[in-house]
Amino acid sequence: MPEKAEPVPSPASTAEGEALAKALLNASTDATMLFTPDGRLLACNAVLCERLGRMETDLIGRDLAELFPPEVVVDRRKVVRRVAETGVPEHHYDIRGGRHFDNNIYPVRNSDGRIDKVAVFSRDETERYEYERRIREYVEEIQRSNAELEQFAYVASHDLREPLRMVSSYVTLLERRYADILDDEAREFIGYAREGAQRMDRLVIDLLEFARIHRRDDANPTPAGEAVETALRHLQLAIGQSGARIEIPVPLPEVRADPGQMVSLFQNLVSNALKYRAPDRPPLVRITAERAGDMWEFQVADNGIGIEPEYFDRIFRLFQRLHPHDSHEGTGIGLSVSKKIVEHHGGRIWLGSTPGEGTVFHFTLLAAD
Ligand code: ADP
Repeated sequence: MPEKAEPVPSPASTAEGEALAKALLNASTDATMLFTPDGRLLACNAVLCERLGRMETDLIGRDLAELFPPEVVVDRRKVVRRVAETGVPEHHYDIRGGRHFDNNIYPVRNSDGRIDKVAVFSRDETERYEYERRIREYVEEIQRSNAELEQFAYVASHDLREPLRMVSSYVTLLERRYADILDDEAREFIGYAREGAQRMDRLVIDLLEFARIHRRDDANPTPAGEAVETALRHLQLAIGQSGARIEIPVPLPEVRADPGQMVSLFQNLVSNALKYRAPDRPPLVRITAERAGDMWEFQVADNGIGIEPEYFDRIFRLFQRLHPHDSHEGTGIGLSVSKKIVEHHGGRIWLGSTPGEGTVFHFTLLAAD
């Protein structure tokens, strides 16, 4: 048999009722006031006393005009009267003396069901408003600096490529025109100069690609399978040359992502899998996807040289490479681009690896459904 619940004592006496009402009023973090319909203060809490810097005994019984600055009194009086007459609660936001107040005004009925009081709850939202304003400013600042960076990357890539082309072509000209007077060492130096210019050109192009990735919160459903297909077509030559096998054991799902960026993402990961292959076996790349809540988790696994765990974070940073360019071509931007693409779509990218055995890159993207 369930035990009978103790009856909650009702505030039988007026004193108890008053104590309860006072406790409730003071529990609120809003300045709380109870007015007569013509604007006389019947009760208030400690927050109001603090806000006005006056004692409760000095406030009770006073008219609105004695509590608030003249510029708001007429309005306040109208609102209190209107709520008492219509019985419809109202909500007003006002700014006074540089502070922001969020006010809710409710009718209060007596035991006959007649509205004879009006309750006002006034929340000081200044801190929250300030906080939001600061966040808005930061966001604007970030957007501005992103736009500047993008503009800079565009100008840099455009304008830097021109003098680079000039360096390359004059070095080539030098090599051709003075072929018979240049010795082997001079030709070697010229080769380094040309290579340097070419590498810089690739860096500039990759940097531009990195800067061009935009946030995509509105992306349409994109079939990941099609993006992979396109990426593999772009890598056809490297796949053929390395003798790689690419496995996609189950059909890949649709995700909310920009189709072009999806292609770049898969292309970067698969091309790394081919580039960082183990010397003693042809590359094997396996692409799969698994549902994880409202996301899909993709995996691009390879049987390559692997990565030591201490470098797991570093490789996603711009220009960070674990291999010199003379052993493996590259600019160190591919994984930064991949991370930016995934994160701009609201996903996450990480990896697991066993050095000498292979690496698995994981990333999540929002499911299309
Ligand atoms: P890049 O390939 O141009 O150097 P990335 O940003 O794509 O630039 O990769 C950064 C570094 O991470 C590479 O230099 C390489 O050392 C390492 N890496 C990336 N993918 C793999 C992989 N699948 N297997 C082993 N190492 C990898």
